Amino acid sequence: VRKKLGKLKKTPAITKDGTQIQLMANIELPEDCEHAMESGANGVGLFRSEFLFMGRGDSMPSEDEQYEQYTRAVLAMKGRPVTIRTLDIGADKPLDQMEHTALNPALGLRAIRYCLAEPQIFLTQLRAILRASVHGKVRILIPMMAHAFEIEQSLAMIKRAKAQLDERGERYDPDVPVGAMIEIPAAALALPMFVKKMDFLSIGTNDLIQYTLAIDRVDYEVAHLYNPLHPAILQLIAMTIAAGHKAGIEVAVCGEMAGDAKLTRLLLGMGLREFSMHPSQLLSVKQEILNSDLSLIKPQMRKIMRAMDPDTIADAVIALQAL
Ligand code: PEP
Ligand code: MG
Repeated sequence: VRKKLGKLKKTPAITKDGTQIQLMANIELPEDCEHAMESGANGVGLFRSEFLFMGRGDSMPSEDEQYEQYTRAVLAMKGRPVTIRTLDIGADKPLDQMEHTALNPALGLRAIRYCLAEPQIFLTQLRAILRASVHGKVRILIPMMAHAFEIEQSLAMIKRAKAQLDERGERYDPDVPVGAMIEIPAAALALPMFVKKMDFLSIGTNDLIQYTLAIDRVDYEVAHLYNPLHPAILQLIAMTIAAGHKAGIEVAVCGEMAGDAKLTRLLLGMGLREFSMHPSQLLSVKQEILNSDLSLIKPQMRKIMRAMDPDTIADAVIALQAL
């Protein structure tokens, strides 16, 4: 199977009815770009930058060190866009020096909350990302946003990082797009706030499911309740895609759902045109896209989006595969 899929590497991801789909890679470290390129990715949809910060005791990567790592990824992708997510630290991805006292770390000081509380760490990372933007197409993606002030303050911090670089005479792309992860239900329910200020959105289904269903994503005792096909999840994803497209901005899914070929047609039917996943999943998702016809999928979507019974939804999603 692997050999056959390998042939698809250079084939553009276009559905039978001619709709072009962007297939992006999720990476943790710059060296993963090799795998991303081998799988024929259109770019990096999610660079989980926190992996540069983890497992190194008390030390933090310096601006220069981060700049080198981001630049490595940008150069490796040869002009394709690289979406660098700012530090998403805390909860399931702790720093070594973090104290583990919070009773509910997933609801605690993590991601953008941590970055806004530690402005020097955030500014250092933003300057490093901006500097890397002279080497290719860089996009900044901000995790775990829920509040209007987080949007305002993040944009203000990016402006400040640019001003600091100006003062130092360093170059950067002044038009680096800035996007928000939609992974807290409150964000998906307050989309006008985001589409007005952001250049793109990326749906983090891993956390969106965790927070919507109140299921700890790393607790095996409740793993059976972690259901991507819960009608509430489907509604939130569909709303986000629709609101983004209505506002004329791109919407991606970068959570695990995007890499599950059994869900590809469902997501296509919901309007998704950009999928970001682990490189190893990319060719099987592409194969599914090449065999999909939106004119056959779309008529089935009303029934799926109205269903409240999980078995009905699961059966209908399986039926999409037979179209
Ligand atoms: C997500 O939450 O879906 C996501 C892509 O980010 P992470 O898994 O790194 O939290
Ligand atoms: Mg997340």
